[in-house]
Amino acid sequence: LVAGNWKMHGSHSANAELLSGILAARPFACDVAVCVPFPYLSEAAVALAGSDVRWGAQDCSAHDKGAYTGEVSAAMLAEFGCRYVIVGHSERRAMHGETDQLVADKAKAVLARGLTPIVCVGETLGQREQGTAQATVKRQLSAVIHALGHCVGEMVVAYEPVWAIGTGVTATPEQAQEMHALIRAQLQAATAHADAMQILYGGSMKPDNAASLLAQQDIDGGLIGGAALKAADFVGICRAT
Ligand code: PEP
Repeated sequence: LVAGNWKMHGSHSANAELLSGILAARPFACDVAVCVPFPYLSEAAVALAGSDVRWGAQDCSAHDKGAYTGEVSAAMLAEFGCRYVIVGHSERRAMHGETDQLVADKAKAVLARGLTPIVCVGETLGQREQGTAQATVKRQLSAVIHALGHCVGEMVVAYEPVWAIGTGVTATPEQAQEMHALIRAQLQAATAHADAMQILYGGSMKPDNAASLLAQQDIDGGLIGGAALKAADFVGICRAT
């Protein structure tokens, strides 16, 4: 799975150009998705209708409905034909104070509506330097595993080292594989479906470094930020699979 995280980027004209560039490059040998800002979900749904390119959102509420001004529920996203919802992106953990428990609750709310959560985990540079990277990722994933129970196998996990996001610094294939193998092992302890689960790498993945990352045994795709905003770059990564 190669999923684009557009973050807070886009406009009617830019989206139309980007989506038509992606559609024109099909077929791909992998699952492909774009996670767009909320206001653009319906135009993504229209532009991608009838194609195998999937679309998703970048966050949702842990609640189903109610007095939560500004929030969007998984039930609403399901009405758009959304397939994926990113939860626990490091930008939301850092800038919106999202805790492991809230991220787990969001993942549960997404699954309850039949959508697939793309659950982001990853350590900061400080945590890596202190030698707590593995413990951090394990703790983040544990909260979600605990919340999802027997549905664990239905999520997608994205390992995104915070120090690699938007920085141009990519984890080496070996660094990424090491963490992905640990994530796989943790999932194996929780579900019999772990080997079939998609564990994505995210963090400055580009067309020229994608192939070596995606060649690793436990890297099953990418969550792409900056390079998802240009059709040629995004398509280049999809082709590298
Ligand atoms: C992201 O935001 O999920 C991401 C991976 O960003 P970038 O590719 O720009 O590092």
